[in-house]
Amino acid sequence: MYTADITVKKNAIVKLSTASVNLIAAGEVVERPAAAVKELIENSLDARAKSIDISYAHGGKTLIKIEDDGWGIPRSELKLALESHATSKLIGSNLLDINTFGFRGEALPCLAAVSKLTIKSREQNSVEGAELTVTAGIKEQVKPSAISQGTIVEVQDLFFSTPARLKFLKSDIIESKAINEIVRRIAMVNSHVRFSLRDVTKKDGSKLVFQAPFETGEKNISDRLRRIMGAEFLENSVELFQQQNGYSLQGYVSMPTYSKATSLNQYFFVNGRVVRDRLLLGALRTAYYDFINSGRHPAAVLFISCRNENVDINVHPSKSEVRFKVASDVRTLIISGVRSALSTNGLRANTSLSRATATSFLSNNHRARFPKTHNEAQNGALNEHEINFKGAQGVFQNSDLANPSTRFEKENPVSDASYILDGEAYLGAAKAQLYKNYIVAQSKTGLVIVDQHAAHERLVYERLKEMYKIRKVESQHLLLPEIVELQAGEVDIILEKETDLKALGLEIESFGENTICVRGTPAILGQLDCKALLTDILDEIVNGDESRHLEDKINSIISRIACHGSIRSGRALNNDEMNSLLRDMEKTPFSAQCNHGRPTFIELKLTDLERLFGRS
Ligand code: ADP
Ligand code: MG
Repeated sequence: MYTADITVKKNAIVKLSTASVNLIAAGEVVERPAAAVKELIENSLDARAKSIDISYAHGGKTLIKIEDDGWGIPRSELKLALESHATSKLIGSNLLDINTFGFRGEALPCLAAVSKLTIKSREQNSVEGAELTVTAGIKEQVKPSAISQGTIVEVQDLFFSTPARLKFLKSDIIESKAINEIVRRIAMVNSHVRFSLRDVTKKDGSKLVFQAPFETGEKNISDRLRRIMGAEFLENSVELFQQQNGYSLQGYVSMPTYSKATSLNQYFFVNGRVVRDRLLLGALRTAYYDFINSGRHPAAVLFISCRNENVDINVHPSKSEVRFKVASDVRTLIISGVRSALSTNGLRANTSLSRATATSFLSNNHRARFPKTHNEAQNGALNEHEINFKGAQGVFQNSDLANPSTRFEKENPVSDASYILDGEAYLGAAKAQLYKNYIVAQSKTGLVIVDQHAAHERLVYERLKEMYKIRKVESQHLLLPEIVELQAGEVDIILEKETDLKALGLEIESFGENTICVRGTPAILGQLDCKALLTDILDEIVNGDESRHLEDKINSIISRIACHGSIRSGRALNNDEMNSLLRDMEKTPFSAQCNHGRPTFIELKLTDLERLFGRS
């Protein structure tokens, strides 16, 4: 246990020396090499640099060097730039209207207090540059320097003067990774600047870790993002743009079927600043919570902008946290922006899934071949009897002769009636049901395979949610009320939600100590196993995330209920049923993935099919 040392006497109050102030501040402003890199790049950006070259050695511990072509520092101000709280950026004292990254005048003096720092700079029109070296806060003389326009800051042996802090740094590899990460983040939001990042640890050759050219052209933002996040991210994302209450939101978010194991691929920028803010991360999580399984995370790049007065960036010295004037407006903007972008693009097939389909067909292991033996045919995965052609034939049998397109089909047996009927629709016309769960459809652009169970689950969920919103969930009265036995204690938990559940069409009442009587179930579900449903709802109430908003909690209960009404795999569907499922999917927002983020359909493009058969 800690006990205060009673031998220590009280000292008189004195003002801290500048050196101490800088040492203390250094701990917050540049706590690790990556933070120093961030501060120095931001200085270059503030000086309107168009080109920034960064190099480092040993994870930034022995060397960090930033070279820019910005507007430079005049010789007469070089010394001042290294004084604490000296800045050229704060005009007047309005801390609520800051248009530069820096304004606190802390980075350079802090770095100079804990390293050997050399700054060389030359203004555009001056004949000569100047340089100044500071070692652990001790300044040398300003000297002339051979440098072209711009500034070079070199930080050697960071924290050598504060060995205790040095010990807190991680391995070279981890510190290098952090530098790489921050440079990429800054580069994402500065597509008009050229960047290069080199590891110069090895004397016999530097390693180019990252580079991004100056992006020109209209699509400079997406071009830059493609370079940094990879083409796959953009292909599997939807673009969004939304404005509300003085905040605007722009960027890209991944389709739910393209999810990641961590939230590391979520990038937020506020007025061009790299931020990592819990409010923003939380809003994004909420926007996706019923599209993605709880262990998975979307990828996103979101740029938020607003007038300076609507956001306080001066919350923390490293400025990576922000405080919005009306936080709930920003939260709502993100949730509604993301959800509406996902709903308008809901049916765009996930391209990486489609590609994976094509690739897996192409790989030798999966290339179709005839079985060698009778046995192999018997055990083969593609057992012909499991293919339910009944559905596809239904079109011919039930055809309405008055329907001209069906008549056309009769007269032209080679052509395809349902293609003409539904072929224009995004998900096309149902052709067959395989393994009693997969609907195969032909669309204008390719072959669509739908997981009927997953799709139906989503449809029921979205419909229930809609009906709940307008308080119109129909309940189906059970002819014979069902008595469900639960465990001790569970009855009370579920009865507490009686009113909510009633609004969802589930009518229950208390019936003895450990039993519940179910009188009605949501009509949309059809016949179901009441016990399984109640157990699932209980699990959601007990294990669901308590911190969520009320609406999220209700939606998770709805999601649990929806699973019970789904057409389980294993139900044969006729052609009309299959087509109506496809049409419903096209109409329903968010129907491209089930409530757990699994895709509800994949598409194999006709062009891929032709490629597989060597036709193109
Ligand atoms: P701040 O950025 O908060 O003003 P710094 O300590 O980072 O504080 O920098 C102090 C000053 O030095 C800046 O206000 C700016 O005038 C000047 N400066 C620093 N880096 C550069 C650079 N790369 N190019 C031009 N001027 C710079
Ligand atoms: Mg600065």
